[in-house]
Amino acid sequence: MGTTFDEAVAAIAGADPARVAVVSDFDGVLAELTDDPADAVMVESMRRAVVELGNLGVRRAVLTGRRSRDVAALTRLEDIAHCGHYGAELLVPGGVEVDVPEEWARWTAPIAEFGAQRFDAPLRQIGVILDNSGGGIASFHYRHASDEAAALLRLREIAAEAEDRGMAVLWGSGLMEIRPPVTMTKREGMHRLLDGEDFDVVVYIGDTRPDIEGFRALREMVEAGQARAAVCIGVRSGYTPPELEAASDLMVDGVAGVERFLAEAGRSLALRQAGVAVEHAAATCPAGPRPAPAGLALD
Ligand SMILES: [Mg+2]
Repeated sequence: MGTTFDEAVAAIAGADPARVAVVSDFDGVLAELTDDPADAVMVESMRRAVVELGNLGVRRAVLTGRRSRDVAALTRLEDIAHCGHYGAELLVPGGVEVDVPEEWARWTAPIAEFGAQRFDAPLRQIGVILDNSGGGIASFHYRHASDEAAALLRLREIAAEAEDRGMAVLWGSGLMEIRPPVTMTKREGMHRLLDGEDFDVVVYIGDTRPDIEGFRALREMVEAGQARAAVCIGVRSGYTPPELEAASDLMVDGVAGVERFLAEAGRSLALRQAGVAVEHAAATCPAGPRPAPAGLALD
């Protein structure tokens, strides 16, 4: 913490928009959280705020745990980059092919096959769900399992077997994920999105623990001289991890707070651009007596 809402808006409004990047997580930030991720919706007013920043010349991108194409279908923003699977997948603006690092890509088929083979009838019967849509991550969800102890017992066996095969295992809330043994966090994702260019201001907006890695990448960019300033914005919700709040420069309230921030940044930037245009016009028009309006008699 330490940056006010107005200071963060002013940082964007005061910069050259071509040298500003606003990167955002999707779930809980651009769209309200839903029980079923497929039901997530980015409301039209939020979409307009993101589009408006783009019209003013600001670079925008989404960095998410979802798959790139899935999130691109939800934002319906074709002129921004969508970085998915915490950075493993990069879909550039207007891109067709998703770019995946070779070290990650070579694990996608073996992991999909391993996940499918281990998802047997006993696991299904107790209500474990497998999300094995490819892309390098097989997720076993046991949150709604009828027998959680039995589910955990079996999933621990599968996890040990995966590790024996050189795969990485990540346990989350109600789930066990099998992944490639490659460090891939939002830190790597942020560098994939922004490295190779210099910025005046870089912004990242996130609501959960993995987003802290995105903040870390922005601060690394400042230390490396790649960005002059970073603004790390946390989104406050009913489940905000204290670490996120501690790592944020500024907290906003919920998805509505994010929309307010983006809209306000756009409005301030547009006003400043209009002000510059007025000053420019005043400087280039020679000041002199104005011609009298036609029809007005001057005595
Ligand atoms: Mg989120």
